[in-house]
Amino acid sequence: MVAQGPTRRDFLRVTAVGAGAAVASGVLGRFDALAAYGAVPKLAGKTAIVVGSGFGGAVAALRLGQAGVQTIVLERGRRWDVNEAGSTFCAINEPDGRAAWLSNHPYIGANKHVTIPRYTGLIDRVEGDGIAAIAGAGVGGGSLVIGTFMPQPRRSSFQSVYPAGLSWDELNDVYWPRARAELNVTTIPDDILAHPQYKGARAWLDYIRAFGKTPERIPFLIDWDVVREELAGRRPAAQSRNRMQSMSHSEVARPPRSWRMTRGPSRKRGFR
Ligand SMILES: Cc1cc2nc3c(=O)[nH]c(=O)nc-3n(C[C@H](O)[C@H](O)[C@H](O)COP(=O)(O)OP(=O)(O)OC[C@H]3O[C@@H](n4cnc5c(N)ncnc54)[C@H](O)[C@@H]3O)c2cc1C
Repeated sequence: MVAQGPTRRDFLRVTAVGAGAAVASGVLGRFDALAAYGAVPKLAGKTAIVVGSGFGGAVAALRLGQAGVQTIVLERGRRWDVNEAGSTFCAINEPDGRAAWLSNHPYIGANKHVTIPRYTGLIDRVEGDGIAAIAGAGVGGGSLVIGTFMPQPRRSSFQSVYPAGLSWDELNDVYWPRARAELNVTTIPDDILAHPQYKGARAWLDYIRAFGKTPERIPFLIDWDVVREELAGRRPAAQSRNRMQSMSHSEVARPPRSWRMTRGPSRKRGFR
């Protein structure tokens, strides 16, 4: 994936000196935060390589491109062309090869035991030291698979994990509100929560109340009108069926269609 037309020679030159990753990761903190997203004369003629096209890689590539840097994005996974029928991805509980990255078993869902064709599918699993992580694989990275819940961490949780140099206050005052506004993040509306299909979500809320707590609705990156269309049977059900989470939902709000998630309806096998 090429963000800004570098030649093969440019690519080889940069990889040969091992500079690609260094430029992509190091330059972002310099040059007045990339001249606040405009051209940076000092970077003219440079080429950067960004490895991975997830949230982090995509933003790094965007800012590098805006700074006038020739930018190559390397992505190991395939590009998924999302179709209108909602059959681009397999359903979470009806997994096929699309569900997992080079594995004979899916990594999420209720049917992890089933055998699936080994394919460059959507979700990878990396074993760590006492912990295993799952992650998206494909153009868009994790954006292909996220449940689209967008909660904001509490100050205490954030500060217990992140270094002191990262300001919770600044994120809270500026960046999280900006991201929510840009993405049009909203909580589940009452009419959808009341729908019979959302019995599971209501049960979770009741469960929390039964413990004497007050449940909060989590912000989602969802276009609820699409959910309404699905629930009314006017478009193929995607997130409003086969759900694994407390709040089932449908297509994401506003961002590109390629941000769709794994839990779409499909019984098709011909996904290659
Ligand atoms: C099933 C699931 C559901 C999730 N739901 C939510 C949610 O609802 N809300 C939320 O906030 N977060 C959610 N997350 C977490 C979120 O997806 C990640 O925090 C986020 O994607 C991390 O962004 P990233 O850019 O660091 O990495 P990623 O988005 O994972 O991108 C990394 C990219 O690099 C590529 N890559 C890796 N190695 C190489 C290589 N050697 N060469 C080339 N390319 C490579 C990968 O294929 C991938 O595309 C979820 C994650 C999963 C797996």
